[in-house]
Amino acid sequence: MYQIEWLAIGQTQVPAQILFHLGPSDRLLPVTAYAMLLTGPDGRYHLVDTGVRSTAEINAGRPAERHWSVDPDKTLLRQLAQRGIAPEAVATVILTHLHYDHCSQVPLFPQADLVLSLREWLSVVAPQDPELLRFTRYPRDVYAWMVDKGWPRLRLVEDGEEVLPGMVAWVLGGHTPGSTAYRVDTAAGAVVLAGDFVNTYTNWNAGHPPGLLVSLEEWYRGYRRLRHADALIIPSHDPAVMARYPDGVIIPGEVENAPREE
Ligand SMILES: [Zn+2]
Repeated sequence: MYQIEWLAIGQTQVPAQILFHLGPSDRLLPVTAYAMLLTGPDGRYHLVDTGVRSTAEINAGRPAERHWSVDPDKTLLRQLAQRGIAPEAVATVILTHLHYDHCSQVPLFPQADLVLSLREWLSVVAPQDPELLRFTRYPRDVYAWMVDKGWPRLRLVEDGEEVLPGMVAWVLGGHTPGSTAYRVDTAAGAVVLAGDFVNTYTNWNAGHPPGLLVSLEEWYRGYRRLRHADALIIPSHDPAVMARYPDGVIIPGEVENAPREE
């Protein structure tokens, strides 16, 4: 059983078409980047995703109205320190996928085990179609670090594999080739940290795919699977996560957000 706490590490706004397939391009919607802090039954700490490392990097080439901001008091390391957690105390860093706003801060945790899907890893180090990597921000220096410094602790998992006791990887694809959701047991029931497979509660409740996709077909297949997960789904970028769990701890059963069965 784990406790799951959201840490907001950066915010911006993006055109609706980024969050919603075939959505409008002229409407901007707010998004938040999260790292999820898991505390295990043994008191060990784990992170799922890592948030934004540098606004200068991520904002390069972006129009001003779409710039990311990160509160200097709310960087990932500051938020961990505020909880008395040193980087060395993070046992595992688990990634939903390899986009910048999810994986860029992996090198802050050189002693942590590093978990991601084999499919996602192969999609960046041996891409079958490099053109797919052009459209979003892929931090190649982080992958180089993973090959160099992170290599002894790199663990590549497949669909259905247990990542930690009480935590299972679901390799769904759809958003990126190896996008992975993680089903995590908590005392109040199971939670699925969906990554960018589900950007917002609206994607989930309306069954509306996100705009950034490598496979629409995989998305619908994975969505059907999530609907049978019997778990609370947590989207990756919805500011409403903060509003729903103002104390920071995600507790299933507090909020009913399962999509309606037709
Ligand atoms: Zn992404």
